[in-house]
Amino acid sequence: MAGTLTVALAGVLIQYTSTRLLENDAEAAAVGYAHYVDEVTPGLRDLFEGRGLRSDTREQLARLRRMGEVFRFKLFDREGRQILVSDDLDHADPLGPSRATSLSQHRGNDRVAAIVLGGANFIETKSGRGKPDRPEVFVEAYVPVLQGRQVVGVVEVYVDQTATAARVRSAFLRVGAVVAGLLMLLGGVLAAQVWQRQAERRRAAERLRYLAEHDVLSGALNRTSFHQALQRAAWRHEKGGPGFAVLCIDLDRFKDVNDSLGHVAGDTVLCAATERLRGLLRHGDLVARLGGDEFAVLQSAVLGPDDVERLAARIVEALALPYEVGGQRVSAGASVGAARFGVDAGTVADLMHKADVAVYRAKSGGRGRFSFYDAGLDQRLADRRNLARDLRQALKDEVVSMHFQPLFRADGRTLLGYEALMRWHHPQRGAVPPTEFIALAEETGLIEGLGEWGLRRACKEAAGWPAPLTVSVNLSAAQFHGERDLVEVVAAALKATALPARRLVLEITESLLLSHTDDALRTLTALAKMGVQIAMDDFGTGYSSLAYLWRFPFDKIKIDRAFTQGLGDDERVALIVRSIITLAHSMGIRVNAEGVETGPQLEQLRRLGCDEIQGFLLGRPAPPERLSHDGTSHLALLQPPRPELEDIQTQSVPLDDVATEPMHLVCNAKTMPMPL
Ligand code: C2E
Ligand code: CA
Ligand code: CA
Repeated sequence: MAGTLTVALAGVLIQYTSTRLLENDAEAAAVGYAHYVDEVTPGLRDLFEGRGLRSDTREQLARLRRMGEVFRFKLFDREGRQILVSDDLDHADPLGPSRATSLSQHRGNDRVAAIVLGGANFIETKSGRGKPDRPEVFVEAYVPVLQGRQVVGVVEVYVDQTATAARVRSAFLRVGAVVAGLLMLLGGVLAAQVWQRQAERRRAAERLRYLAEHDVLSGALNRTSFHQALQRAAWRHEKGGPGFAVLCIDLDRFKDVNDSLGHVAGDTVLCAATERLRGLLRHGDLVARLGGDEFAVLQSAVLGPDDVERLAARIVEALALPYEVGGQRVSAGASVGAARFGVDAGTVADLMHKADVAVYRAKSGGRGRFSFYDAGLDQRLADRRNLARDLRQALKDEVVSMHFQPLFRADGRTLLGYEALMRWHHPQRGAVPPTEFIALAEETGLIEGLGEWGLRRACKEAAGWPAPLTVSVNLSAAQFHGERDLVEVVAAALKATALPARRLVLEITESLLLSHTDDALRTLTALAKMGVQIAMDDFGTGYSSLAYLWRFPFDKIKIDRAFTQGLGDDERVALIVRSIITLAHSMGIRVNAEGVETGPQLEQLRRLGCDEIQGFLLGRPAPPERLSHDGTSHLALLQPPRPELEDIQTQSVPLDDVATEPMHLVCNAKTMPMPL
């Protein structure tokens, strides 16, 4: 557009310049000619004065009729009347016909009058194209003839400019061609620039769109664009298009990879997993990363459940293969859950929800599995969500309470303290087991508040007990990674309740040390420094309980109930328990046995050298108002019943001997160098 305009403008300019050039040329020729005529024609002034045409004048004028480019002339008197036209010089009376034609009737009338008055030349270019007696291009030039300053007449000179015009035109054509070439070049450069800028803009727009639609790390679709793709598929399906399914994919052990090898390794795994998924897809299928280690696949053209199952099996298989990360081989594995549009769900949102529920089901059935959506499970999940809501409310309403279970020295007589165990009485469901609601609190982030409340509640209660009775409080691993610093939380609880730190025992499980080990150990060390005792709970149930014994100077380990209860039946259990006790003692660690329900169990544990006993045999968890702090209550179960000792909950015996008896285990190993 701009280019065309420039070329048109250049054309007009060339046209104008060439006309001016021709006119200048013609004017010079005409003036030269007129002056020449004036000079060399005798009696010309007489002719202008109206004194007739002398024969010598006529002969000279006839000779001058054609000279160079001049092919005709006309003479006018100073009144502007035409006197003579050169063409008439052959006639008998050249003045005859012309004299009648006054200048007032001539086309150049005004112009000639102006010339006579002003004494200036006037030039007009004409085209004779199509007229046989005219050249193709000619100029009519009016040149005044002067006498002193007086105009005595006007010579109109006709100059043939055809040849000159042709020359100028060809020169201009050449120049024009060059200019046009240059213009086109310029235009071309401009156009190229414009095109390039447009291409850049297009590329930027494409990049922006890509970023808006894709997950930057893996290049898979993001959640929003996946959702849009599902909407389109749903629309097509409703218009009679093919069936489709969503497969949600969750990497099973991605967190471990991330925690142990770092985020860069984690990112590598995510990208590799995306690539593997892409490799399994057919035309029309899509893969998206929904966040973290969650992926989803839109499987198109699904005819039946077999199609989905086949793809899911291939996904599980492909993602089970190990990844090569920084020279190491790591495995993450994946669980897959699927739901079909139109079968399991009628809307896209519901489809996603159901595929999500299906993954959950696949995961809870053991990892590395595939599962379809299952309505029963969905109901259970909904129940769980409701339960979480109720728990949140329960926390607000303070209807969660704390029970306490006594811990005895192995003699079965000496009360050492209590373990605080949380209780939640649900208004409709009744008692919800702590294992259930604590796991729920961990999942929903309620655990921090719940744990802090429990800690304060337990410390407050214990502060009212006679020293040195201790209170053991269970800590969830989540409390170590919460927003509030656990060390501060514990310090604040002790301060608020004035409970000496030594009388607080914190129970942790091995799961805490499985991830973020260093952070956890740092926190434990800070807690121990405050004087708080640290116990390892459920000892023997994990994979590497023993390994952690070397990493931190625990005050106590609690042998899991499973060992206690296996004691009578299996010789090997006793051997294991004995080994644990020997090992712990060698490190200066006290040993507690949980879940003691029978006299023989207690007897055997005592023989094996166990330090502390806890279990229904000696006392069940009870609300604080029912605690007696009676160290001899269990005797009813160990010795022939004594009527006055039968009701352990109402028993009230002097506590002196309990409280003052020193701990029999000296923690001398604490200062020993730890074997690695
Ligand atoms: P745990 O820390 O191992 O607590 C001991 C569990 O064994 C308690 O179950 C207790 O009632 C039960 N128990 C004690 N003696 C016997 C016995 O002789 N036989 C049998 N069969 N069981 C016995 P509970 O109260 O249901 O607690 C279950 C788990 O819930 C606890 O296991 C602990 O992991 C968790 N929990 C309880 N309260 C809290 C708490 O305040 N905070 C945290 N983080 N976890 C808690
Ligand atoms: Ca415990
Ligand atoms: Ca335990």
